[in-house]
Amino acid sequence: MPSDPLTEEQREIRELVRTLARERVAPRAAEIDKSAEFPWDMVELLREHELFGLPFDEAHGGTGTGALMVLVAIEELSKVCATTGLLLAVQELGSLGIKLTGTDEQKTRWLPRLASGEWLPAYALTEAGSGSDSAAMRTEARLEGDEYVINGSKRFITNAGVAGLYVVFAKTDPDAGHSGISAFVVEADAPGFEVGRIEPKMGIKGSTTGEIFFDDCRIPAGNLLGEEGEGFRIAMRILDRSRPGIGAQGLGLAQGATDFALEYAKSRETMGKPIAQHQLIAATLADMETKCEAARGLLYKCGQLIDEGADGAELTKISAMAKLFCTDVAMEVTTDAVQILGGYGYIQEYPVERMMRDAKITQIYEGTNQIQRLVIAREMLKENRAFLLAGVS
Ligand SMILES: Cc1cc2nc3c(=O)[nH]c(=O)nc-3n(C[C@H](O)[C@H](O)[C@H](O)COP(=O)(O)OP(=O)(O)OC[C@H]3O[C@@H](n4cnc5c(N)ncnc54)[C@H](O)[C@@H]3O)c2cc1C
Repeated sequence: MPSDPLTEEQREIRELVRTLARERVAPRAAEIDKSAEFPWDMVELLREHELFGLPFDEAHGGTGTGALMVLVAIEELSKVCATTGLLLAVQELGSLGIKLTGTDEQKTRWLPRLASGEWLPAYALTEAGSGSDSAAMRTEARLEGDEYVINGSKRFITNAGVAGLYVVFAKTDPDAGHSGISAFVVEADAPGFEVGRIEPKMGIKGSTTGEIFFDDCRIPAGNLLGEEGEGFRIAMRILDRSRPGIGAQGLGLAQGATDFALEYAKSRETMGKPIAQHQLIAATLADMETKCEAARGLLYKCGQLIDEGADGAELTKISAMAKLFCTDVAMEVTTDAVQILGGYGYIQEYPVERMMRDAKITQIYEGTNQIQRLVIAREMLKENRAFLLAGVS
């Protein structure tokens, strides 16, 4: 068994999640993919077993078991169903703005409902014309009396149509670039708020990805998170803490595909022996397992650092590295798993076909992997390693 830095309590929770994943989630995964319907039964399962409480403090109705535990739980769920793993990842993504910058009143109002899973949240940054370049957003919010009035739209929003609240980024000062963006909580029943088209897509099909519209949408001024103009910084602080969750989704997919390919390779015979005994297949399996374990080491280190209070440049860099590495591993390893199954890997009867499609999105959302490389390089360029060159002529 791989070594891990988990406490006894965390191992017990992992065991519970593992059992639920095997017994309750895995049997539903193919059907969720096929029907492309939002899996309310999986939401109910996570509610019943208080798994939505994992990203929250005890004071707000959560388990207080820390960031590493959330990553482990997402990994375990994603080994069998990446859509179900994503439910937990987005519970964290959509709540972090309130957790990090909410007033006591805002936290008391929203966090317990999110910790119980009564409400699902969404994080609404991307627009049709602004994804990687999020500062180019066009949605605007203006203060009128004791209300903000929001106009514009967002695209590709996970949990669109099923969320109880949306953390929305909009320009309060359109001429001020990054510093003109503010963050708001918009409840789903706010007047002028509407959910548009839900996108059909390649993978994570049970998860909703949709457009949302704001047409003179009115929300109380008290729904502003932080101060006006702090929105871009808030969006990035959230991503620093949520990107590892996507890494965990990727790692779960990679490990799930490795486990499946291993068992298949032990039983499928060609040329008189199990394919696992052909050296090229054995070597591929060895590479898959090694990549998963390396990804896990980086991801868990990132989780531990978050639990130790890491912030700023240190966190930005390692969380981008964890997201980048785990999700690139997800794509490579799920593709290798399909190859190991041969023709059977390509048909829907076997789960590796779904895993390969699901893996692709992990390289794209919460910042594409090109953007992660830019982030990591930008942090490296700020570092001074000149001492290493001492004595080099
Ligand atoms: C299923 C799904 C769920 C999503 N969920 C959410 C969500 O919940 N909330 C949310 O706000 N957004 C969400 N997104 C949006 C997602 O984060 C964006 O799609 C992603 O950040 C990329 O933005 P874009 O699609 O506009 O691509 P673009 O920014 O147009 O990029 C196109 C290509 O150019 C590359 N590129 C762009 N700029 C650079 C650069 N400077 N250097 C090198 N390469 C570059 C990109 O990496 C990409 O390959 C979701 C998207 C999908 C598909």
